[in-house]
Amino acid sequence: MPVINRIADFQAEMAAWRHDIHAHPETAFEERRTADIVARLLESFGIAVDRGVARTGVIGTLEGARPGGRAIALRADMDALPIAEKNGFAHASTHHGRMHACGHDGHTAMLLGAAKYLAETRNFAGTLHFIFQPAEENEGGARLMVEERVVECYPVEAVYGMHNWPGLPEGEFAIRSGPMMAAFDIFEITVEGRGAHAAMPHLGVDPVVAAAQIVGGLQTIASRNIHALDGAVVSVTQIHGGDTWNVIPDEVVLRGTTRSFDPGVRDAIEPTIRRIAEGICASLGAKMTMRYERRYPSTINSPAETEIAATTAAALVGADKVRRDMLRSMGAEDFAFFLEEMPGAYIWIGNGDGADQAMLHNPHYDFNDEILALGASYWARLAETVLEK
Ligand SMILES: [Zn+2]
Ligand SMILES: [Zn+2]
Repeated sequence: MPVINRIADFQAEMAAWRHDIHAHPETAFEERRTADIVARLLESFGIAVDRGVARTGVIGTLEGARPGGRAIALRADMDALPIAEKNGFAHASTHHGRMHACGHDGHTAMLLGAAKYLAETRNFAGTLHFIFQPAEENEGGARLMVEERVVECYPVEAVYGMHNWPGLPEGEFAIRSGPMMAAFDIFEITVEGRGAHAAMPHLGVDPVVAAAQIVGGLQTIASRNIHALDGAVVSVTQIHGGDTWNVIPDEVVLRGTTRSFDPGVRDAIEPTIRRIAEGICASLGAKMTMRYERRYPSTINSPAETEIAATTAAALVGADKVRRDMLRSMGAEDFAFFLEEMPGAYIWIGNGDGADQAMLHNPHYDFNDEILALGASYWARLAETVLEK
């Protein structure tokens, strides 16, 4: 694979860092051991380190050998998921019920490898910030970094992110300008009926029937209310209600998630869910309350930085190995919070497309060690290219 020779020398070291982090996964805002490893390694490379940013985050700062007033940030995420690993290899999780099933162990190792190389060579002008953020999954570690004024304290002209992508061949990248990943929100609908004996439903108001109609009704949002080419998902993922065979319960709770790219579409989904659920409940004599929480915005790459990222990747692997036509993902990514604040670009690096490739968040998933040096080389070349003078 086309990588920087000096970074290829770190391959075994990067794999060892990753395996150690993989074996000791820590979930959102609990990444103390991982953050300590990151901070110690950065310090051993001669990089200035700030710990405890957004609780368990780490930021390293490195000046180039040449003076310059410009700065960029390179970002990796460190957290694992609450999943019980089903892999049996030597570096499998030793923390029961937690697992690096999204490859953030690999992201951390790749950025550490790049930091080691860049600290040795310092072949750039200006300042590099290495952001190792906590809690990418669900809890919005990047949002907390923005709230803690990381953007003001570490001023940069752009921020770059990278995520591995199973199904994309090893040695390839994928990126697109504009929305790359979806906005992610959650909702909870509580349907209040009136409990009754199941044999005498006419004496109550059945919240199970109302909830079932709501699940069906919500399917019309993406299919009937949103432009077919805009992209939206409304998924009900939980139904809770009732305890036994012969009792109609008082209440049923529905929970789910929504995905969208366009901010206008996102704004339209919440009131539409409410209208449908309220209308169905009213028609059946039930009541409802709804909680809707906006979690992550859409990950929107800025055009100029997308070109820089794509060109950097193409210089490593060839333009034919940098896909610009991949479908956007309905998955979400909290890197979006950084991109709301400043220009930047988020790129996918192929984790491999073999038949054995498990998707992200699968209990059989593992980050591909073979791409560590390529990912680190991408980071290094990106820094050297953008901060050339
Ligand atoms: Zn994930
Ligand atoms: Zn991830």
